Amino acid sequence: MTSAAPRPPVISIVAPAFNEEDGLREFCTRMAQAVADEDYELIIVDDGSTDRTPEVLAEIVAADPRVRAARLSRNFGHQAALTAGLTLARGEAVISIDADLQDPPEVARELIARWRAGADVVHAVRHVRPGEPRMRLLAIRVFYRAFGRISGLENYPGNAGDFRLISRRALDAVVALPERNRFVRGLVSWVGYRQESVEYERDERFAGVSKYPLSKLAQLAADGVISFSTLPLRISSLVGIACSIAAFVAIPVVVGLRLAGLYEVTGVASIHILVLGLGGLQLTSLGIVGEYLARAYDESKARPTFIIESVTEARPDGA
Ligand code: UDP
Ligand code: MG
Repeated sequence: MTSAAPRPPVISIVAPAFNEEDGLREFCTRMAQAVADEDYELIIVDDGSTDRTPEVLAEIVAADPRVRAARLSRNFGHQAALTAGLTLARGEAVISIDADLQDPPEVARELIARWRAGADVVHAVRHVRPGEPRMRLLAIRVFYRAFGRISGLENYPGNAGDFRLISRRALDAVVALPERNRFVRGLVSWVGYRQESVEYERDERFAGVSKYPLSKLAQLAADGVISFSTLPLRISSLVGIACSIAAFVAIPVVVGLRLAGLYEVTGVASIHILVLGLGGLQLTSLGIVGEYLARAYDESKARPTFIIESVTEARPDGA
């Protein structure tokens, strides 16, 4: 006897989780309450957790047929885990959200309402971010501002992470983009369609600590800039040109001063500074070029963004 393939849900919710053993149960409960009126599936992507997240997830999956658990073969990082979840989603609209309850699940209702009113992408923009160090917040704000400008992405919503809704057609476009190094929020802005934003207040983490130390955050920022802008390359050319012009201008000036007897040959120290400074600029430029080359090299290897070890879900018939 063959049974018809199960009908895809209307809404998919995708949440990457890395070592979230203490908060995951609460997250799933609150998420389920928030979208109780909807036909939905909840996909938790376990990004190679090393704590009890897999066990907790197995219990959640066994108790709720609407939850699917995907496990990656190791820790691939937030953006890769999110991408894995987006490729698994079957819904007509897909909501991505953090699993640590910093993004309140109840906001999902507003995202869905905007989608029903015709939006393809609804970004949830953070209004406040309690519980995060000041310096971190400042760095994040400066980055968002700068990124919005230099990437030229007109839909880039600024102070938004990866809490958003994407319609099926926009998601298909995002998933089809072939690049491996995925700065998901940039890609979503890039595909266009009708994009809107809603504001929300970010909560503190329900349990555990941030899995994004400043170093990872800096890496994410660098990935974003390099994937979406060649401005750093242009800046290094411009600095080079400016230095050359300064040198050419200096030649007649120095000769003139010398002839006028106004220039004594002193200042070995200043020569040291110049040599070090220019050497530093050259190496920095080389480093910038190297960053772009490294990305091109990475892309040319065409390794997958993630490897899914398993996907588990309770069968609807209880088998
Ligand atoms: N996360 C992940 N893989 C990682 C790091 C983080 O899947 O390598 C998940 C994490 O479990 C959380 C979300 O990504 O659900 C956001 O991470 P986190 O809360 O640590 O970042 P923050 O909110 O502090 O920027
Ligand atoms: Mg968080």
